[in-house]
Amino acid sequence: MKVLTLNAGSSSLKYQLIDLADGTVLIRGLCERVGGPDAVHKFDRGLGELKRAEPMRDHHDALQLVLAVLTEAERGPIRDLADIDAIGHRIVSGGEFFSESTLIDDDVLDKIAVCSELAPLHNPPALHVIRACRELMPGIPEVAVFDTAFFQTLPPRAYVYPLPYEYYTDYQIRKYGAHGTSHRYVARHAAKMIGADVYDLRLITCHLGNGASIAAVDHGVAVDTTMGLTPLDGLMMGTRCGTIDPAVVTHIQTRLGYTPEQMNEIMNKRSGLLGVSGVSSDLRAVEEAALAGNERAVLALELYAYFIKRYIGQYFAVLGGADAIVFTAGVGENSEYMREKCLAGLEPLGIVLDARRNRLRTGERIISEDRSRVKIMVIPTNEELMIARDVEKIVDELRLAEVLAAGADDEVEQTLV
Ligand code: AMP
Repeated sequence: MKVLTLNAGSSSLKYQLIDLADGTVLIRGLCERVGGPDAVHKFDRGLGELKRAEPMRDHHDALQLVLAVLTEAERGPIRDLADIDAIGHRIVSGGEFFSESTLIDDDVLDKIAVCSELAPLHNPPALHVIRACRELMPGIPEVAVFDTAFFQTLPPRAYVYPLPYEYYTDYQIRKYGAHGTSHRYVARHAAKMIGADVYDLRLITCHLGNGASIAAVDHGVAVDTTMGLTPLDGLMMGTRCGTIDPAVVTHIQTRLGYTPEQMNEIMNKRSGLLGVSGVSSDLRAVEEAALAGNERAVLALELYAYFIKRYIGQYFAVLGGADAIVFTAGVGENSEYMREKCLAGLEPLGIVLDARRNRLRTGERIISEDRSRVKIMVIPTNEELMIARDVEKIVDELRLAEVLAAGADDEVEQTLV
């Protein structure tokens, strides 16, 4: 089955065409700065990246360009759009409506629209892309895969904020989490690598990228996560502050006369690694500055690691121990320095990193010492593959249901005859 995965951001459209027969990515690409004067389409058909500056007024235009590249004569990975069996859309917020991936129909579209309030930068462009797919590829089944779905299993004690309860009941203000598809993927993959069933394991999964979150996964079920109503909560990130005393927000607004929008900007775009170091939101650049003796860069790294360590400790307590800690995404997969720093001193908890294995740089791996009670693992995340697999499962079920229904119709016809 060939599945097209689509991931719409506020001004971007990321995609992959995956052949699930063997998991090959036939093409991957990204339309950037959609709607801007300098829009660009980058893609890779396995022969290196190509870049085309092309006008795109909106996500509909972007999708048209993507489809043109997919079916480009001679070089496109498919001849006809009908060769795409199904489409999977990454949807940032499914609110409390969706606890799993879902075939898209009008009702699902309406619910995604309702959740736009919770993901104003992401759900509206995703809706735009879904509608464009319906127009440009009618009849191809579309599936919504929600970032929040994996965390719908959180118990109320983990998702209710201790605010007046009406804010939850009347305005749906609660913890929803994010990066769910990535946490789900690495949790399952970790179980496979360990040779156990995910339903037998307690896992702490650390998605450390530009955005970062940690999840506690108890016997296959997510029981807590660091992101909240929005992705601002939890860990310190590239440009986001993560958890701070909420009174800091009103204090700064009052003292400096900032509007809620300005404060939002500061906490989302000017804080985190960038805000503390003053150097960059990119961990590599901050590591380099720290090595060169920049003290604020050193402090930023200390803070970044300390946030991770604190949440690992919290989730160790929540789970009553852990069988494995998994690192994924840009920082988690690549920064041996950060992994070492956030796990330092955790030996009494049975968490023992192997310094040599931690330096290895190849794919998925176990980097704890053999005597470590808790396995420490690095697993490259693959949200697109997870999306494509969900799509395959749902479309297979749909086809089976259609076959069964056709069989039942035949039986009725035969009986009538
Ligand atoms: P992501 O959002 O998953 O693409 O992750 C981006 C983050 O990963 C950035 O902060 C990068 O600096 C960081 N990153 C990528 N490669 C490395 C590396 N080799 N060492 C340290 N950080 C890295």
